[in-house]
Amino acid sequence: MEKLSNPQQTIQVLQKHDFKFKKKFGQNFLIDPHVLDKIVDAAQITKDDFVLEIGPGIGTLTQYLCEHARQVLAVEIDKNLIPILQETLSAYDNVDVLQGDILKQDIQAIADKYNAGKPIKVVANLPYYITTPIIMELFESHVPLANVTVMVQKEVADRMKAEPGSKDCGALSLAVQYYAEPYIAAFVPPNCFMPRPNVGSAVIRLDCLAKTPVEVKDEKLMFRLIRASFNQRRKTLQNGIANSSELSYSKAQVAEAIEKAGFDANVRGEKLGLMEFARLADVLLEM
Ligand code: SAM
Repeated sequence: MEKLSNPQQTIQVLQKHDFKFKKKFGQNFLIDPHVLDKIVDAAQITKDDFVLEIGPGIGTLTQYLCEHARQVLAVEIDKNLIPILQETLSAYDNVDVLQGDILKQDIQAIADKYNAGKPIKVVANLPYYITTPIIMELFESHVPLANVTVMVQKEVADRMKAEPGSKDCGALSLAVQYYAEPYIAAFVPPNCFMPRPNVGSAVIRLDCLAKTPVEVKDEKLMFRLIRASFNQRRKTLQNGIANSSELSYSKAQVAEAIEKAGFDANVRGEKLGLMEFARLADVLLEM
């Protein structure tokens, strides 16, 4: 079978199966062989690797992954795509397809089964409606990861790389930079997808760090503080934390912690970096 990266082949497969794109699943399929090469190169896949692919669609990227990796597992939520994948991937004996929601999978069990618990590589042209939950789930579940190479909205890739204190920096930036080093491998225009998305995209590789850049006693508390601060960017750090539904500190307690951590009483959370949030979390934990 000819590779799906040829747009004619993609159209033929979609027509044969009378496939209807579902917006709610963020379905924008890749139709550009150069972009597929770039993703596989960026992910640094070797014949020793097990790759978890999130959202294979009709299997366009999956075919490339099968050719480069030892073993691939592709998790696809859309039941209608399963018979198509069985056909488009029939030439490969190193791929399993699992129908389901990636956010409901036990990724640790997947790493144990397919890679003897060793760090896995994750590759995806992500459904944009759940980019952040997927990335956060991968990191926060502490599954052993070597790297995560994903197509995301260009703006999201910029945010992941944003310097602390800059206007693009948000909760996602700090979370990504706590767990990984981000590297943007390519910018990808809308005409490389079918149907075309309304936004530009980028391929970003997150190289997972062996050691986190800051030490904090309670990681979950630190991320609650980060979310509280960036959810209410215009508010002071004190008000952001005191108003958070995820946290239950009084205004007085927060004010005391901010002072003990050595910050200005009126500081805004968006000005702080990981080190400062870690310090504040440690102070609050001690209190
Ligand atoms: N990998 C294919 C490609 O590059 O052509 C398709 C990418 S498309 C942007 C995203 C894919 O993720 C779709 O096939 C969609 O059905 C699937 N998807 C959406 N939400 C998902 C979820 N929660 N779990 C697993 N797959 C999901």
